[in-house]
Amino acid sequence: MAGLYLHVPFCRQACHYCDFHFSTQTKHMADLVDAMVRESHLRLSSDPRWKDQTFTTLYLGGGTPSILPPDLLEALVSGVLTAVGQDASDFREVTLEANPEDMTKAQIQTWLGLGVTRLSLGVQSFHDETLAWMNRAHTGVQAERAIRLAHDLGVKAMTLDLIYGVPTSRDWNDDIARATALPTQHLSAYALTVEPGTVLGTRVERGAEQPAPDARTAEEYHRLCDAMAAQGWSHYETSNWAAPKPSQGHHASQHNSAYWSGAPYLALGPGAHGFLDSTRYANVSNNPRYIQAIRQGTLLDQREALTARDRYNELVMTGLRTAVGISPEELRRATGVRPKDVDGEAWTRALNRGRLVEHQPGWFRIPERDWITGDQVASSLFAVD
Ligand code: SF4
Repeated sequence: MAGLYLHVPFCRQACHYCDFHFSTQTKHMADLVDAMVRESHLRLSSDPRWKDQTFTTLYLGGGTPSILPPDLLEALVSGVLTAVGQDASDFREVTLEANPEDMTKAQIQTWLGLGVTRLSLGVQSFHDETLAWMNRAHTGVQAERAIRLAHDLGVKAMTLDLIYGVPTSRDWNDDIARATALPTQHLSAYALTVEPGTVLGTRVERGAEQPAPDARTAEEYHRLCDAMAAQGWSHYETSNWAAPKPSQGHHASQHNSAYWSGAPYLALGPGAHGFLDSTRYANVSNNPRYIQAIRQGTLLDQREALTARDRYNELVMTGLRTAVGISPEELRRATGVRPKDVDGEAWTRALNRGRLVEHQPGWFRIPERDWITGDQVASSLFAVD
């Protein structure tokens, strides 16, 4: 079982905090789509192991896939699915990232017609001042209307993204209340990070902007944890909450859950990262260079062969961000790392300090209150030379 990820590297405008790979130059969309379809064929022919995989989740991310006109989106999805020999109905989950300003009735109907089962909505905040500070291209009311429209048109699963720790924001309680009042089943919330090279990063570097203090960011995170718990949502990963399902379980993201558990994923498009059998690749993050290379039949990527220890450490890092946590024995079995490579004293220290708990025999996790700083605990448990 594997994931399939398509990175659509175009946005209407640049959000001031964003360091993902995207371009606001949209005139080469058709060439890019053509190149991504070609890349799917190239990937499968260059590594036959991909042909043995069954892809169970499809995720269109970016950038902003919802910016693609219907004919190009159709060409992208059908071209890639033909290459992997599957239909949209073969997937358990087909997610498309969308921004509220793109969500017209016609666009949503196109997405449903292509087999999209889940929309991931870049909302970030419902407050127009905060949205303007972020340089988002929509208003809060527009986001609420778009989500209700998608629901009325039959979109059965929606997740929305929010950002906390915004220095100018004073409305976090209201953001949480408005998000959970909407017909959505999933929420992702991320702390605002100041990335070098972004507009925000440059402003902070010049002293024109101050990031929110860490204590305030942590307080907003904990307020969100409490609010979601009070409404019965499952906090299943550091940044992700899922509403309960009427029958059993909850609406967790299947694509991301597979990624966190170390499943292979075929990723296409400039800036996309893929993974198979301990090898990771990262496509060049430059649209013209990507298109040119693919036209010449070349995969322009960087590859990294991960050692057993690399894999172990990655799985510790991603596993300890989840409520399921990690089983050291399972990790050793999956990666080949030996017990002597692991610092037993670090485990004991983390357990004694309550930074790690054994929540069922052999399975360890970080207590929810500490998830926001969980990466420090995880890195202290890494396998060493
Ligand atoms: S829409 Fe998304 S990918 Fe594009 S600039 Fe904004 S945050 Fe980044």
